[in-house]
Amino acid sequence: MNIWDCHVHMRGGETADEILRGMDAAGITRICLFARYPGRDIEGHGPPPAEAYRPAIEEVAAIQEVDPDRIYGLFWPDPRSEGILDLVEYALLDKGLRGLKMIPNHWSPCDELLFPLYEKMQAIGKPIQFHSGILYGFGDSSRFCQPVLYEALVNFPGVRFSLAHISWPWVDECIAVFGRFRAAVRYQTADCQMWIDTCRGTPDAWRLEALRKAVPFCGTKRLMYGTDCTAGSIAGNAPWHIRKDTDILVNEMGLSEEQVEEFFWGAAEALYSGG
Ligand SMILES: [Zn+2]
Repeated sequence: MNIWDCHVHMRGGETADEILRGMDAAGITRICLFARYPGRDIEGHGPPPAEAYRPAIEEVAAIQEVDPDRIYGLFWPDPRSEGILDLVEYALLDKGLRGLKMIPNHWSPCDELLFPLYEKMQAIGKPIQFHSGILYGFGDSSRFCQPVLYEALVNFPGVRFSLAHISWPWVDECIAVFGRFRAAVRYQTADCQMWIDTCRGTPDAWRLEALRKAVPFCGTKRLMYGTDCTAGSIAGNAPWHIRKDTDILVNEMGLSEEQVEEFFWGAAEALYSGG
């Protein structure tokens, strides 16, 4: 079975060779690889300066170029940075990166500041993978990451996007927001602009319950597998995640082979192929 890990972070300094070897060892066919956060001060409240972005873009683009079929590079912009729309164009059109990774950090997904970026992404037609849920990574930003804040995207129906971690601990809210986006397209899942990235965030005690709710309500066509590991730790982390999720989906929930394949591959393929 092909496995697509939709959520892998770069720390900076990794090589394509070590990433591909890690994927081979873990039995993973394809990954979404997030560029490192531009600039140095991830904890700071200010946006990175424009010149901090180019090295992060070039680094992930160079890795993608080694095997563009297996490595989908994503650009990580901060919407508050000056000239960000030009940088998005550069990353996605000139360098061929596959989409955006974004973490709300003292900006909210519903801020009007974001609307020009959403318009740009509608025009470009590539997806955005958002963080959603409690944010252990940096600062006091979790309040900007609640799933309902993403409802603003219903005004930009051409933007395909995913919310990570099933938005834990706001799993029910995340699933309800998915319902809202599906209702916006007359309940046709195939036309729904929202995906859920199920990468960890849900601790073990919540994982089964979260998937038991998400699978029947959302369907496996819109639930993507991911690990949230770093590019250097795929071989060590991914097999454990694959085993645990397979156990839940197959042994605990009795999903069909087709549903399991949608979860591990088809949902991400649909996000990146446009339907
Ligand atoms: Zn992550």
